[in-house]
Amino acid sequence: MSNQVRTTTRPAGDTVHAERLLGDLDTLASFGGRPDGGVDRVAGSAADREARAWLARRIEHAGLHAYTDKIGNVFGRTHAGPGPWLLVGSHTDTVPAGGRLDGALGVLAALEALRTLHESGHPAADLIEIVSFWDEEGASPDSPGGLIGSTALCASEHIRQISGYLELHIEQGPRLENSGLELAAVDGIVGIDRYRIEVCGAANHAGTTPMDARSDAARGAARVLAGVRAVALGLDPGMVANVGCLELRPGSPNVIPGAATMVVEFRAGGEESLAGAGAELGALVTRIVGEERCTATIERISHKPVTRFDPHLCDLVEAACSRTSPLTVRLMSYAGHDASVLSGHVPTGMLFVPSTGGISHAPQESTPDRLLVQGCQALYNTIADHYHALS
Ligand SMILES: [Zn+2]
Repeated sequence: MSNQVRTTTRPAGDTVHAERLLGDLDTLASFGGRPDGGVDRVAGSAADREARAWLARRIEHAGLHAYTDKIGNVFGRTHAGPGPWLLVGSHTDTVPAGGRLDGALGVLAALEALRTLHESGHPAADLIEIVSFWDEEGASPDSPGGLIGSTALCASEHIRQISGYLELHIEQGPRLENSGLELAAVDGIVGIDRYRIEVCGAANHAGTTPMDARSDAARGAARVLAGVRAVALGLDPGMVANVGCLELRPGSPNVIPGAATMVVEFRAGGEESLAGAGAELGALVTRIVGEERCTATIERISHKPVTRFDPHLCDLVEAACSRTSPLTVRLMSYAGHDASVLSGHVPTGMLFVPSTGGISHAPQESTPDRLLVQGCQALYNTIADHYHALS
């Protein structure tokens, strides 16, 4: 393993410490660590609280000031920090039987970047605050749904002292690895539309009713389900669609279903794509239920708008990533992050490193050490560039 990211034109003080970062990742993974290599560190669990206490000690050990706010967010900054701060971080809670990198990388890379700035006497050190947000995942049955710490920060007075937000994260999907890429500057986070479709037919005897005399709600719903992929890909090759819920009633092997309920979800990087998908889904449902002698209702039950990160900060992130590795791309995130909350309040940027096999929220979650260190270096380079762009 190569421990150093080579930066031929920069002094050693501008290079993050690979072994220190990787050692911290190993230590953090031991809180809630599982024999299979995964991590159980759901927000509020004993392991989560112990990990946060360890993080605060680790911040103090670097000669920095650590503090925890009312909700449970852990922060670190130099003692001289006058604010406003560029906030850099992620979360240290996990899903049950989760992986060792989701969130953890972003927090510990932020610590490593700030430590390196502080040690080399870089003036940006006093303008950086690092954070581990409380309960990003929303994985506990008691959780109000995740993104709790970042939402609380944005509702607090402290947000007035924050000038921007940066987050390094694993991609949690296969796109970077499949394209042989090493870093991504994230443009934003896809919007999500969900539709509930009720198909109504006529319940009847499954044996005595001739095939050409049926109003089969299951068949109508199944044809809609099968058509959803073409609706998405026909509009936008980057759109994804899912039918994760399907219920047939009355639900008996010898009764033709009289009713079917399904939920269709679309995720896309553009509002036009989402709106187009809604219109085409409506047309698809109308055509199919007509052919199947059924009726249907369709209702949009939720709309999460597309998040667009600050374009200037995105450009800066992309330039810093490209300098760190030529294998850099811009892409949208298909998963939600604390960055989506922050982006509603301050200029926000995000960086991705590849996820091996595209696996996340599972014990097998991994990224080669070299790419973890390189991601941290790209985060450091982004912070340094951001400072020089302002001064
Ligand atoms: Zn995460």
